Amino acid sequence: MIDAPVAAVTGELCPGRARPETEEALPMHPDSHDEVAGAPSEEVPDNAGATDAAEGTAFAALGLRPELLEALTTLGYEEPTPIQREAVPHLLAGHDLLGQAATGTGKTAAFALPVLQRLERAPGGAAAVSRAPIALVLVPTRELAVQVAEAILRYGRGLGARVLAVYGGQPIGGQLHALHRGVDVVVATPGRAIDHLNRGSLPLDAVEVVVLDEADEMLDMGFAEDIETILGQVPAGRQTVLFSATMPPRIGGIARRHLREPVRVQIALRNAEPGEVPLVRQSAYVVPRYAKAAALGRVLDMEAPEAALVFCRTRTEVDQLAESLNGRGYRAEALHGGMSQEQRDRVMGRLRAGTADLLVATDVAARGLDIEQLSHVVNYDVPSAPEAYVHRIGRTGRAGREGVAITIAEPRERRLLENIERATRRRISIEKVPSVAQLAARRADLTVAALRESILKHDLEPFRAVVARLTEEFDPTDVALAAMKLAQDARGATADEQEIPDLSTKPVGDPRGRGRGPSGRDDRRARGPATNMTRLYVGAGRSTGIRPQDLVGAIAGESRLSGRDIGAIEITDRFALVEVPESAADDVIAALKNSTIKGRKTLVRRERHGAQ
Ligand code: AMP
Repeated sequence: MIDAPVAAVTGELCPGRARPETEEALPMHPDSHDEVAGAPSEEVPDNAGATDAAEGTAFAALGLRPELLEALTTLGYEEPTPIQREAVPHLLAGHDLLGQAATGTGKTAAFALPVLQRLERAPGGAAAVSRAPIALVLVPTRELAVQVAEAILRYGRGLGARVLAVYGGQPIGGQLHALHRGVDVVVATPGRAIDHLNRGSLPLDAVEVVVLDEADEMLDMGFAEDIETILGQVPAGRQTVLFSATMPPRIGGIARRHLREPVRVQIALRNAEPGEVPLVRQSAYVVPRYAKAAALGRVLDMEAPEAALVFCRTRTEVDQLAESLNGRGYRAEALHGGMSQEQRDRVMGRLRAGTADLLVATDVAARGLDIEQLSHVVNYDVPSAPEAYVHRIGRTGRAGREGVAITIAEPRERRLLENIERATRRRISIEKVPSVAQLAARRADLTVAALRESILKHDLEPFRAVVARLTEEFDPTDVALAAMKLAQDARGATADEQEIPDLSTKPVGDPRGRGRGPSGRDDRRARGPATNMTRLYVGAGRSTGIRPQDLVGAIAGESRLSGRDIGAIEITDRFALVEVPESAADDVIAALKNSTIKGRKTLVRRERHGAQ
């Protein structure tokens, strides 16, 4: 029932309409929590190995109905996140709630599951169906409306939940039709919700729960008045839930006026004690979600870890990532709570015997694992609580050895990274994903090292006769080249030909680095070369069969640069753009002027802005 996003929400933006509020004491529910357990708590039953997944899980302990537990199992969630553990029981008990939590903490499920718990319809939808929504979720942007509606739909699949995303910039007809047919949960941007209220197409009289998600953002976008209007029209007895990443006084004002004795839940930023954070090299890579697995593969290629543990959020992710890393030539094993004890034992056996290099696991499955001497710990997503991060990376860098912690983050998770930096008082350096040129150079280094080792071992005698036969026919260098190609192919190295977009720089004007905004800023990435680099135009492209490795080979072969110095390479049909250090640009151009690329004389010059 989710309508595809069509256009931006620009029409709903009314900057400057927000009303300033003053800070006053807010009546709070006696159960309010100022702190939420951070690291995965040891009291949570470890359900690893449970085959009847829904029963007896930490989610079941929260009191959720079986249809929801089943959905969570299908999604591969093994245990509640801290915000879910704290918020769900209070919401199920009907309390209002004021929650401080950023995106990435699992807050959507924290409010969506209790909402879905209220649905009366049995699976199959046999019961009498009311057409009016029982819940209204207000969100600041259309992207979030779609994302939240999709999440609620996934959690409520077993209940036949009808969910509709309602936002501006999209023809209203489809929304009117869907609302008329009947919807259980409406996820709306405030402006479009007001439109529907004016038309009488959004009945609010059956609403039992109102959620204000990312309330601070809604206020920043000028939706304060709209929110007041909407809250004035929902039944007085409803439950109200407010989530916000920050708690400025204006949020306090809304809470005072519209929440009744709310329970307060907060992801506390407890600062780490000195010595609590192990001394490890910490780096993070910010990439689009679709490129996460490829980015991790490339980072691992450069890092060459001796033994690494990769943490994922869900079972599904564990399985998919292990498969992807195996495809890249790693011996990766998956470990999660959906596996039987026997399967888990086999995995651990292979790790101990050294026939696996990487273990990909969920937090639950990795808990209590006794693996010594990890050179690397990888976070395939950013843990929502700093304590969980510290807990994970504490598995490397033991016994005086240098450890490495690598985090792969989506742009929307930057804020969580900053939280971790603040709480641990350690810098996590944001790195660039290795470029195609760096990977090619690394592969060449590995091949050279392997050949060198083989030559020094003096065990090549049996091949002398083979080489002798070939050198009668071919030049010895060509024979060596063919052997190197076969050796490199046999290593199973993936030919990475596309650069992964680097999202490590925050888009201007978007403090959360989410890359979204009112005027369709989603794709606004810093174009142009990285600092201290210059882009060269090469007058040959895909149509002449040119590949990144040809460019790296030509530049590294003819100039004083090595493959590592070369930055991003972009190849179009007609031409290619190659990033080189500014200080070496003229030398590279001069060197290439007198040589050929793939056997052809090719024009190389600095990139001109505008048409090439
Ligand atoms: P949110 O903060 O709601 O945007 O959620 C962040 C991400 O965490 C989403 O991709 C969710 O699917 C995922 N997620 C939420 N709860 C859990 C959980 N208990 N276990 C694993 N992943 C989760």
